[in-house]
Amino acid sequence: MRGVSDLHSPVLAWYDEHARALPWRGNGATAWSVMVSEFMLQQTPVVRVLPMHAQWLERWPTPTALADDDSGEAVRAWGRLGYPRRALRLHAAAVAIRDQHGGQVPESYDDLVELPGVGDYTAAAIASFAHGRRHVVLDTNVRRVLARAVSGEEFPPPSVRKAERELATSLLPEDAPTAATWAVATMELGALVCTATNPDCDRCPITDRCAWVAAGRPAYDGPARKVQSWAGTDRQVRGRLLAVVRESAGAVPRRRLDQVWTDDAQRERALASLVVDGLLVRVEPDHFALP
Ligand code: SF4
Repeated sequence: MRGVSDLHSPVLAWYDEHARALPWRGNGATAWSVMVSEFMLQQTPVVRVLPMHAQWLERWPTPTALADDDSGEAVRAWGRLGYPRRALRLHAAAVAIRDQHGGQVPESYDDLVELPGVGDYTAAAIASFAHGRRHVVLDTNVRRVLARAVSGEEFPPPSVRKAERELATSLLPEDAPTAATWAVATMELGALVCTATNPDCDRCPITDRCAWVAAGRPAYDGPARKVQSWAGTDRQVRGRLLAVVRESAGAVPRRRLDQVWTDDAQRERALASLVVDGLLVRVEPDHFALP
């Protein structure tokens, strides 16, 4: 491995020139805008998040505005972004911010990670991107860049390991503002250049010091990587059921939900799980509604 600072200058300079102008970045972005974006981006690509993020911020420009509305409205507005439990968690976090933090998104990692639905990654990302704090921010893009550039491996392990976190910590610039830019810059490099299936090493600012390239781009031979499936899964059934209720003005009778999926057992299982997750409530015998 070469000196860590070898990577800083080219990556930071590349980011300065190539960063996308996203609404949750830059001086005009509020901490709430950053927080909403982090919830939405957890499982969803930027292009799909952009319009939903704009609508969300227009409707609920502050955590308190969201907290004062029903959680069911958050689920409805989440639309087809997928993984709708994120909408409930974001609403619960907004309630906690209103009730315990005077309506202001907390600045410290320790306060952020106490909020409902905010784990290590999201707390570090909000503290870093919204407040310029110095944190290791390990999302899939950052992990892939570090695995290749520093460890010489095509992909990181399926879940974050201690050694990986220690490596990322050792790479973090000392001063907080630079560390925050480094975090978002490595993320952007992974999103735009060092992509999962087709890294564009010719356009990469660190190709001459990338350990994976130097090793001849060896193929990944670690533990099996998770492949996201959709068609035919309970997730797909849940999505269809929720869409019917979301697009209805009031409670929906079961017989309408029965039409979205022919496999009775799978449909019942999906419906029951939506109720257990709090995304749907049974309001009267055989009717279902948003919370
Ligand atoms: S040189 Fe290629 S593999 Fe290495 S960090 Fe850049 S894009 Fe990724």
